[in-house]
Order: sequence, then C-alpha cells, then structure tokens
Amino acid sequence: MPERSLRVGELCEYPLRPFDRLDCAAAAHARRELRVRRRFPQPHRLPVHEDVEHILFTEAQIGAGIDRVAREVTAAYRGTGFTVVSVLKGSCVFASDLIRRIPIPLELAFVSASSYGSGVESGALEVNFFPAESEIRGRDLLLVDDILDTGRTLARLVDEMNRRGARSVRTCVFLDKPARRATSFVADFRVFEVEDLFVVGYGLDFAGHYRNLPYVGALKRECYERPRSSAGR
Ligand code: 5GP
Ligand code: MG
Repeated sequence: MPERSLRVGELCEYPLRPFDRLDCAAAAHARRELRVRRRFPQPHRLPVHEDVEHILFTEAQIGAGIDRVAREVTAAYRGTGFTVVSVLKGSCVFASDLIRRIPIPLELAFVSASSYGSGVESGALEVNFFPAESEIRGRDLLLVDDILDTGRTLARLVDEMNRRGARSVRTCVFLDKPARRATSFVADFRVFEVEDLFVVGYGLDFAGHYRNLPYVGALKRECYERPRSSAGR
C-alpha cells in the first residue's frame, strides 16, 4: 500500500486509510474517477465517443497536419512579430496546438463569434467581443478558426480587424468545407479539407458538446435529430 495521501486527479486503487481521509476533496475526486473508469474502461467507450458515426481525422493525422501548417505559418512570419487571434470557442484546441509548434515570437489574442447556436445550420453571426484596440492597431494578425464553412464569419472578422487598424490580416483554418461556401473567401492556411458533413470534436461542438473529443468525427444522425433537451448529453 502506498505511503502517501492522494493528490487531486490521482486514482485510488487501494482502500483508503484513515490518514487519506484528511485529504477529503482529493479522495472524493479519486473515488469518483475510479467509478467512471470502471464503468467505461476504454477511453473510446465514454458517452461522447458513442455518439460518433465515424472518425474523419485521427489524433495522429491531426498532429501531422498541424505540423505542416505550423511550418508554413513560421515561414510566412519569420522575422516579423505577429499576433494569433483565436476565434472562440471552436478554435481554442487547434490554436493551442498550433502555437506550440511555431518557434518564432508571437502574441495571442481572442475574438468571440458565434454563428451556429445549437443547431447544425448557420444562423445569424454575432461578434461577442474583440481583442483590445492596442492588440489590433498596427499589428500583423493571423485569425485562427476551427472551420471555414460559408465564409461569413471570417469575411466579417477580417473586415472588422482591417477597420480597427490592423497592419495585415491573414487567416488559418483547421478545416475547410468548400462545398458550402457562400462568399468568395479563401483562407491563407488550412489543415484539412472536409466534405459537406456536420463534424464535431477537436474544439468543434454540437449544442455546446463534443469539443473534448481528441479527433474529428461525424455525429450520428440521431444525435442532432433527437429533442434538444437531450442533445449532446
Ligand atoms: P461560417 O461563417 O464559415 O459559415 O461558419 C463558421 C462557423 O460555423 C465555424 O467557426 C463553426 O463554429 C461553425 N461550423 C460550420 N460548419 C461546422 C461543422 O461541420 N461542425 C461544427 N461543429 N461547426 C461548424
Ligand atoms: Mg467557430
């Protein structure tokens, strides 16, 4: 039996001794986690994975794709400082993996735009917040988004950044779905092209869920056709 108390996040594989009870929050957390792991022993059998019809891009493919685009971005901005502007919420996973593969100086900022609400069809676009004016004016910006679909979100954000005085604005998307384009928008950098399917995972959501899938997959039809109260679990 280990000679120390549990830390948060650690699994308790042995009966708790009185000493361990001192660390109540950690022990309760560990017991909960152990119960979940016993119920779903394979990571890919957790509830969110069960809603995926098929996987389009695996973790390994995503990693290799981002390596390639990170090299392209690095070559494009070598010798100039620039700011990566991550479009929340969908691009947060992609942006965080991308910037860690870019070995030249950069800053990070966020803009929040939503166009999908909780359905699978495009809705009205709302820009919830912008980076501070000082993070835009005179800066070279790389807008990073999860997916380029109709193109309305990025076309609008590029315009807004130019209007607010950016020195240059380029765009980098994780997925590009050209079949649904409703504008003439073309991204400067893109990781993968994807067919006309509603996809989730790796930051992309349906009704707020599935962003935590480590791969990109197509949702089972019954998940977006079932009543909203139970959609996404
Ligand atoms: P656009 O303005 O280009 O039509 O849409 C961009 C936004 O729509 C994306 O940032 C993303 O939030 C959402 N979107 C478009 N297609 C998909 C999709 O297949 N899956 C998910 N989860 N979101 C999508
Ligand atoms: Mg988005």
